Amino acid sequence: MDGQNPLKDTKREVFCQEYLTDLNATQAAIRAGYSKKTAKQQGSRLLSYDDVAARITHLAADRVNRLRISADDLLIRAETILKADPRELTEHRIGACRYCWGIDHEYQWKTKREFREVLARATAKLPRKPTVAQRDALPTEEGGYGYKVTRDPNPECPECGGLGSPFVQFADTRKLSPEAAILFEGVKETKDGIEIKMASKDRAFDTLAKHHKIAVETHEHTGKDGKPIEHDVKVKARVVLVPPKAMAPSETRPIPKEDGAT
Ligand SMILES: [Zn+2]
Repeated sequence: MDGQNPLKDTKREVFCQEYLTDLNATQAAIRAGYSKKTAKQQGSRLLSYDDVAARITHLAADRVNRLRISADDLLIRAETILKADPRELTEHRIGACRYCWGIDHEYQWKTKREFREVLARATAKLPRKPTVAQRDALPTEEGGYGYKVTRDPNPECPECGGLGSPFVQFADTRKLSPEAAILFEGVKETKDGIEIKMASKDRAFDTLAKHHKIAVETHEHTGKDGKPIEHDVKVKARVVLVPPKAMAPSETRPIPKEDGAT
């Protein structure tokens, strides 16, 4: 009797399933449909049956296994989040400014339509009898058309000096790699535009660090009040990164001393 198969007696089977939810035999008996009046006795009697006991043991072990699988899933997910490249979701890029590739580095329009619309708006704002200066200040087509922000900046651009102008590009989330898809948690529309929500790499790191029980060892050269040296080993969900010692900016490196003194 290994408890692998559901019990033929349906009430007993339901009792086993129910018993695992709260380990309360009386309540499990009631939920399985036994009489409320005798549920207490019935519950403990059921637990004493071999088939019921075996079935409960099996179901409990099965549940532990299932929980273990979901713990593994969690770790795999955390690992994936850590490895995923956020640049797949959104890229901060530098593109040409409006003057980079305009004719004679004048303001370059994307299209004729863009120019027409801007000109119409500016014209509408003019007073009925505009001055010559006001007319001259209207937008012109001198810089030409074909502006593309995705084009590289022009190093010769007198306006931006080749620095271009920054823009943010969002990925088409239908085309993400499986790793980036796990990183992606949806979009939020804010008053400043669209915001991409990403899974927290910090949290993923903490999860993994806790799992791998990263030990942070702190060494003391002498113990407190001259007492023996204590090695304080603590398990922390955090790694302390020690920056490498900066090399002295000298042309020749001194020969290290024999005793290793620094
Ligand atoms: Zn430019």
